[in-house]
Amino acid sequence: MTDLARKLAEIKNNIAAAAARCGRKQPVELLAVTKTVPVETIAQAAKLGQTAFGESRVQEALPKIERLPWVEWHLIGRLQTNKVRKAVGKFSLIHSLDRWKLAEALQEEAERQDRTVRVLLQVNIGREPQKGGLDPGEAEEFLREASSLSRLKIEGLMAIPPLGEDPEESRPYFREMFALYSKLRESGAKLSILSLGMSNDYIVAVEEGANLVRIGSLLFGERTR
Ligand SMILES: *Cc1c(COP(=O)(O)O)cnc(C)c1O
Repeated sequence: MTDLARKLAEIKNNIAAAAARCGRKQPVELLAVTKTVPVETIAQAAKLGQTAFGESRVQEALPKIERLPWVEWHLIGRLQTNKVRKAVGKFSLIHSLDRWKLAEALQEEAERQDRTVRVLLQVNIGREPQKGGLDPGEAEEFLREASSLSRLKIEGLMAIPPLGEDPEESRPYFREMFALYSKLRESGAKLSILSLGMSNDYIVAVEEGANLVRIGSLLFGERTR
């Protein structure tokens, strides 16, 4: 068994065990984060059965998507409005809708291409000034207003909690995200995806209700950027 196969199996086991511990019935999706990872390695992961891959930058992603168009690609990094034209139609899910101007730009480009665009609202759950994302208190109104953007399908929420040493530091933020997700669903929003958790805290994320985790370095090794 290769190193990659072993890691993939181990992460899937940990996800399944965490989900079972809290009696979860819905599956938890693993997104393999492949920024800086060469396309050959991504192809290997695909061969091992991994189906969904996440990239941070449109420019880096496009040639990889061209080489491996049959797998599913997600955009997880900040999307500049001047890259919207290149991104729409290439990614099956954009995790980083974080401002109204971007919502309008996506709507306009989707209309032009006669498509719909699936997105997640990114929430700045740690209320960190340097980080992208809506303030948690703005999410409900944003969703209400975005219902006028017919080409945009907002399917869930995404967050990156403040960086900590101990995965337990993420738990209160994940818990707050799950509470927000539940509240929005109860008020009628059709959300089904909660994207939380990375290499260091994905087990805590699953325990707190994430159904999509984004894992890079644990699978592919530490990055230099
Ligand atoms: C890089 C990145 C990840 C993966 O981070 P790791 O710590 O390497 O697992 C997940 N989500 C986002 C938004 C990222 O930019």
